[in-house]
Amino acid sequence: MKIYNTLTRKKEEFIPVDPGEIKMYVCGPTVYNYIHIGNARPYIIFDTVRRYFEYKGYQVKYVQNFTDVDDKIIKRAQEEKTTTTEIVEKYIAETLKDADGLNIKRATVHPRVTEEIPEIIDMIKTLIEKGFAYEVNGTVYFDTQAFDSYGKLSKKNQEELEAGARIEVNEDKKHPMDFVLWKPNKEGEPYWESPWGQGRPGWHIECSAMARKYLGDTIDIHAGGEDLIFPHHENEIAQSEAATGKEFARYWMHNGFINVDNKKMSKSKGNFFTLREVAQEFPYEVIRLFMLSAHYRSPINFSRELMQAAQNSLERIKNALFNLDHLIRHSQEEKMTEDEKRLEKELEHFQNKFEEAMEDDFNTADAVSVIFELVKFSNVNVDSNSSKEFAIAVKNKILALLNILGLFEKEEDTADILDEEIEELIMKRQEARKAKNWALADEIRDHLKQKGIILEDTPQGVKWKRQG
Ligand code: AMP
Ligand code: ZN
Repeated sequence: MKIYNTLTRKKEEFIPVDPGEIKMYVCGPTVYNYIHIGNARPYIIFDTVRRYFEYKGYQVKYVQNFTDVDDKIIKRAQEEKTTTTEIVEKYIAETLKDADGLNIKRATVHPRVTEEIPEIIDMIKTLIEKGFAYEVNGTVYFDTQAFDSYGKLSKKNQEELEAGARIEVNEDKKHPMDFVLWKPNKEGEPYWESPWGQGRPGWHIECSAMARKYLGDTIDIHAGGEDLIFPHHENEIAQSEAATGKEFARYWMHNGFINVDNKKMSKSKGNFFTLREVAQEFPYEVIRLFMLSAHYRSPINFSRELMQAAQNSLERIKNALFNLDHLIRHSQEEKMTEDEKRLEKELEHFQNKFEEAMEDDFNTADAVSVIFELVKFSNVNVDSNSSKEFAIAVKNKILALLNILGLFEKEEDTADILDEEIEELIMKRQEARKAKNWALADEIRDHLKQKGIILEDTPQGVKWKRQG
C-alpha cells in the first residue's frame, strides 16, 4: 500500500511501526461553532483511511482531539454572555451529531485539552530541561533555533519561515520564529496553575502531548488539512522530537482544501457554509459521496451543481439496489446457471480494481468509479431471468464496496414493501397504541421508517407516504 507522505513529498510503501496496531492521530476542530463543509473533508477522508485499514484486517487506534480552550472560544462565550464550558459542550455535541450523520466512526479516544493539562505541563518542563524552550515573564517559548530540523515538513527555507513568523512580533522572543508553549491568562480567561504561573497552553503543544500519551512516542500516521502543515504540524514535530529524541510520525497525510467559487472559504467573504446547512439540502450520505468522489489531495470547488451531481449518482446506486431487491424477491430461479457462475467471477475483478485504487494513496475517486462500473454491470447482467443466487451475489458485492467507504452501512433491506403489508403494520401499531404498548408502537414505526415509509398522525387517522 502506498501513501503520499508530505514529509518526503513522495508516495511511499506503508509499513506500520507495529503491524498489530496502526496508530493514527488526526487534528480535530476548535469547538466554538458548527463545523463547516471544509472541516467535514478531513473527517470523511481519514475515517475512510481508517476503515480501509480495518477492512484489511488491521487494528487501528485513532485519536482525534477537541481543542476546547482557545481565543475564539473565549470570544464566543463573551459574545453569548455564557461560559466557555457551555460553548464547548454545545459544539462538541453538535460536531458529533454531524459526524454521526456522515457515518464517521468515533475515535478510539477524543481527548480534550482541558483534561490533559498535567501531560502538557510535563512536556513543556521536559523541553525546558533539555534546552529547547525558555520562559520570559510567565510565557514559555519553543526555541526553534535549538531544533536543527525545524522546517523539515513545510520545506520552507529560513527566509520564508521568518516571513511567516513575523506576523507575531514580540520583544520577548529570542527569535521571531519561536512559538508559545504556555502563556499567562488575561483577566476573565480560564487558567491553570503551572511552574510558570497561572495560564494556559499554546495551541500546538496539545497535539504533541496527547499523541504521546495515547499513541506513544512514534506514531504511524498524522493527518489533517493542508493548512496545518505550517505552522501547526511543523511545530508539533519540533516539540515531540525535541522532547522524546525519537521520530514523531512516519507518514504525514494532508487533505486539500474546499473552496467556494474558487476562493478560500471564509466567513468575512460570506462564502461559508456550515455542514448543518448543507445537510438540510442534501442528505449526509450525498456529502460523503461528494467528498470521496475527488482525490483527497486535490482541491474541491464546492458548488450546488456538484452536490446535485453527487445526489444523482447516489440515486443511480439506490435504483440499482432497489431493482436487485425486487429481482431477489420475485426471481423464479434459486441457483446460478453456468453462465452466471462465469459472470460471478468477474465480480472479483471489481473488488481487485477497487483495492488497487485504494492502495494507491487512497484514490477514492477511482474506487468510486469502480462502484459505478459495478452498478452498470448489475444493470446489464441482472434481469427478471436471473437467478436469486446471482442477484444476491451482485447486490452483496456492491454493498461490500460501498461499506468500505462508509456508505450504505445502515441500509436495511431496500426490498419493496407492499401497500397491504404497510396497512397491516399500521393497524398493528394502532392496536399497540391503544394497549399503551408504546415500545411496540415505536418499533413498528421505526421498522417502517427503515423501509422508507413515513407515518403521519392526523386527526383523520394515520397517513403514510413513501420517502423520496
Ligand atoms: P480548524 O477547526 O480550523 O482547526 O479545522 C479542523 C480541520 O479542518 C483541520 O484539519 C483543517 O485543516 C480542516 N479544514 C479547515 N478548513 C478547510 C477547508 N476549507 N477545506 C478542507 N479542510 C479544511
Ligand atoms: Zn494538531
